[in-house]
Amino acid sequence: MNALHTTVHHSAVFDHPEMGEHENIVFVQDRETGLNAIIAVHDTTLGPALGGCRVWPYKKPSEALTDALRLSRGMTYKNSLAGLDLGGGKAVIIADPRKDKTADMMQSFGRHVERLSGTYITAEDVGVSPEDMEAVARHTGHVRGTKATGLGDPSPYTALGVFEGIKASARHVFGGDDLEGRTVSVQGLGHVGHDIARRLHEAGAKLIVSDIHAPAVLRAIDAFGATAVDPAEAHMVEADIFVPCALGAGLNARTVPQIRAKIVAGAANNQLQTPADGIALKKRGILYAPDYAINAGGVISIALATPGGNDALVREKTLAIGDTLSVIFERAAKEETTPERVADAMAEERLANGRQG
Ligand code: NAD
Repeated sequence: MNALHTTVHHSAVFDHPEMGEHENIVFVQDRETGLNAIIAVHDTTLGPALGGCRVWPYKKPSEALTDALRLSRGMTYKNSLAGLDLGGGKAVIIADPRKDKTADMMQSFGRHVERLSGTYITAEDVGVSPEDMEAVARHTGHVRGTKATGLGDPSPYTALGVFEGIKASARHVFGGDDLEGRTVSVQGLGHVGHDIARRLHEAGAKLIVSDIHAPAVLRAIDAFGATAVDPAEAHMVEADIFVPCALGAGLNARTVPQIRAKIVAGAANNQLQTPADGIALKKRGILYAPDYAINAGGVISIALATPGGNDALVREKTLAIGDTLSVIFERAAKEETTPERVADAMAEERLANGRQG
């Protein structure tokens, strides 16, 4: 019997702590291609559920379910706050992207996405390459973020939005967004982090950079005259702004008391390990730009780009991330709460209006 059937039985799904308001959860297994996947549609109030497909070697199917439920809910909030007429969903494929993934498996996934008749729209996420998405697109039109559907790689738009968010944060804390001479610590120099570092360098900021991948650090030293630090110390350095662009949960009970910057504003998803870490940042007088608000440029580019079209609308909406953050910061100050709580409330308000309309 398949592991999915033995481990995820009926009550384990409906009683799941992350179950929330999810509308539809589809368990897929295709013995021929070895595809084991979960597609979670959280909310379609604002439109079809858009969210990436992640390929990851989950140790247990229950871990995959938890990830799919959490990530799909996160997409509802991200898409709502970004002003997109799209709901939230996410797919996870239980497989090692380096060893198990095949074109047949991705094509099979595409057939299952097609069966959902457009209520779920897929895109790239961790462990999925542009070639994989081409395989998916052979069997369904409900795919975004490929060259054929729009602008391709979303990372430059994510970086553009984060840069606008950094400027909005600087206006709130320093009273102006001139970054000339400001010291900024960028942790993680991948697709997004490197491009943010470039923008910061061009704006005259002094860069402190870190990555576990040495060539990425050397590239930034070379291109921007940056100073390197150990990645584990990126949050502790003497800097005005800390920009996390590596993995999640970097803001936690251990790191928050060590941060010396006045602003934390970066691209990484799920930066706060727990809500208490957001409260701890506020208590320390550090402004935190909520991750899903500041890093929405990528999903905006995926959602709004049209085949063969230019990127004017995508740029306009991505630049507006700075304005959204300014509203969030002002409201958080007025209501004496944290920016991430305000971001959640704003996303929920738009959903509530959508439900009434
Ligand atoms: P990437 O894989 O290209 O880059 C991540 C970089 O972080 C790599 O260079 C890696 O070596 C480095 N890294 C990993 N662990 C580290 C550590 N402990 N300390 C320092 N560096 C470390 O990924 P990316 O596309 O640049 O995305 C970066 C972050 O932004 C991720 O959290 C991602 O979920 C988030 N994000 C990306 C996009 C996008 O458009 N690519 C959109 C929204 C959010």
